[in-house]
Amino acid sequence: MSTPATRTGLDASALIRWYEREQRDLPWRRDDASAWHILMSEIMLQQTPVARVAPVWEEWVRRWPVPSAMAAASQADVLRAWGRLGYPRRALRLHECAGVLAERHGDVVPDDVDTLLALPGIGAYTARAVACFAYGKRVPVVDTNVRRVVARAVHGAAEPGNPSTTRDLADVEALLPRTRARAAVFSAALMELGAVVCTARKPDCASCPLPHCAWNAAGRPAHTGEPKRIQKFAGTDRQVRGKLMAVLRESHGPVERAALDLVWLTDPTQRDRALHSLLVDGLVEQTRDGLFALAGEGE
Ligand code: SF4
Repeated sequence: MSTPATRTGLDASALIRWYEREQRDLPWRRDDASAWHILMSEIMLQQTPVARVAPVWEEWVRRWPVPSAMAAASQADVLRAWGRLGYPRRALRLHECAGVLAERHGDVVPDDVDTLLALPGIGAYTARAVACFAYGKRVPVVDTNVRRVVARAVHGAAEPGNPSTTRDLADVEALLPRTRARAAVFSAALMELGAVVCTARKPDCASCPLPHCAWNAAGRPAHTGEPKRIQKFAGTDRQVRGKLMAVLRESHGPVERAALDLVWLTDPTQRDRALHSLLVDGLVEQTRDGLFALAGEGE
């Protein structure tokens, strides 16, 4: 998969027609969603499914319609509102990003990729997703779904190779339609195809709008690289971190260590490790008198 994708492998017109007909009605795709609203959705959607994100996103848009509104909230407020979306460091980084947008960017999300990349918590994917979906820029937007569709339809492989930002961006850039407007729709369509049709476990090739798929044409060769690791949750430090955070979110202030100990009695060493990692990540604070609180609530 060292050569860039060629235009012959992916019929942009067929894909765009399908997207215009079949796209899901997602709230962040509404005409009145601002760049800030879209940025919030992109951060939330990175590791959390649409169905869990949508209600939280709606609440955030009402509560923090502009970056300065979120910047004025406390870290603890934002962590509470994040609830059970998981990977809560994303919420802290978004809060930090809101502060920078309010102070240095006139409360407006920038439209160019380099400026977006300089913001806290904004990586290669999010910067381009915002530039494309909020401002219609012609930039390659590459997430896991896009990598998978390109691997199959263009390169004839069951799964993409190891991620490489430079190679993956060049690969998708080569597929983008020339005009800005079509390129932006194409990027959204490519992601949508990977999310709903060309899925990881069970691609629905009978419903695929692409007239040619290199993987199907090659007889659907099996994946030859390392098997994909299935991320488990039960029993992991991540699960324990989630339980500890839930206690702190639901409390009205700092709590005793004993209240945290109760959530994971089976393995105190693991519990200590999880709590320590939350302190190191800045999600939890310890007060002078030894109590534990959400970030910003321990003074
Ligand atoms: S034909 Fe099947 S494998 Fe190929 S892009 Fe479409 S859904 Fe994916």
